[in-house]
Amino acid sequence: MAETLHKRKAKAINIYRKACKACGICIAFCPSKSLGTDELGYPVVANLDTCTACNLCVDRCPDLAIEIIKETDNKPEKKGDEDGKK
Ligand code: SF4
Ligand code: SF4
Repeated sequence: MAETLHKRKAKAINIYRKACKACGICIAFCPSKSLGTDELGYPVVANLDTCTACNLCVDRCPDLAIEIIKETDNKPEKKGDEDGKK
């Protein structure tokens, strides 16, 4: 079935661990439980599909340590293993 919904959505959630102090604010404010924690308490992406790109986590982060790339953003995504590597 083709996706025809125009719901706001995130293409990526970038967490900059060097800037992050694991305060948990972003996780607490996320209304869609898109963020979870790793064993050290740092935020991780728990479910990118549920993220609505509401930006609450970005707005509440005191350390500018989290970034939402919206589906409409034209920022180049970091290439992973699709980049010609075998
Ligand atoms: S943009 Fe909104 S829904 Fe997505 S991770 Fe941040 S708070 Fe959660
Ligand atoms: S609010 Fe910012 S500093 Fe706090 S856990 Fe989230 S990303 Fe890290």
